[in-house]
Amino acid sequence: MSWKHVILGLIMLAFLAAFPWGPLFAWSPVHPGYRHVRFSSADVLYPDGAALDPAYREIDRYVALAESFHEVKCVKKIRVVVCRNWSDCVRFATPFLGRPLAVTIPTGTLIFITPKAAAFRADIGELLRHELSHAVLKQNRSLVSVLHMRKQPWVSEGVAGLVAEMGTTAPGRQSISLPKKEFLPRAKTEELWLSFAAVPQKDWRFSYTAWVCFWNRQIERNGKATFLRFERACFSDPQGCRSSFGDVYGTDLRSAVEAFQAEVRSGRVVEPERAVF
Ligand SMILES: [Zn+2]
Repeated sequence: MSWKHVILGLIMLAFLAAFPWGPLFAWSPVHPGYRHVRFSSADVLYPDGAALDPAYREIDRYVALAESFHEVKCVKKIRVVVCRNWSDCVRFATPFLGRPLAVTIPTGTLIFITPKAAAFRADIGELLRHELSHAVLKQNRSLVSVLHMRKQPWVSEGVAGLVAEMGTTAPGRQSISLPKKEFLPRAKTEELWLSFAAVPQKDWRFSYTAWVCFWNRQIERNGKATFLRFERACFSDPQGCRSSFGDVYGTDLRSAVEAFQAEVRSGRVVEPERAVF
């Protein structure tokens, strides 16, 4: 056997091993060390010997909620991988992974829940609604649009937060957004525009809460149809998001954020819409 055959054989072995143990794990027909539970719109893979949080069993309803909120269809089945530990997460999800609670890859068909979700005592229902909102939107957009939307977190993360907030937090769990009593005193003194002006954020949880409250306000003032018109315009042309905001809402983004901040200073925050399950 020549050295070329040896190298070719090693490449083939590495490729085959990438399915059950590497970055192709989610697409592998076998998942060593993981259980597989099937629902209509999504499959969940979770570690052998671990208990599955009951929120995962609500996944079909959460997908339906995200579809109905954004008025889009989830065309492809989603797979959710609950990583046993960081070492598994890094093997399965690199290069999509920083250190988030969860991540949805750009195709909108695969979600990884990281060990940080357990460490944060995250409300899994809320986390799933957030990621499934990303998933249904990503499935309906081009890859280029999805990648450009990373530079518009005030839209991409804010609107995922709207669906995430449609439920109550399970006892003993933490919401991704800050509780109102923590957010309001800070939002009265800190300049909210800073959360909207750039991509890097000083405090993601604070900015995320500001974005969710801002979009709740926009929907309350101008209605859902206007919001969806903006959402579609922004996702179709992510680089033109800020001018689309002006076109749809008839006011520039900075003025709208300043008006929002004035309301926050007077103690007024629009409560999220609570879906009834
Ligand atoms: Zn997100």
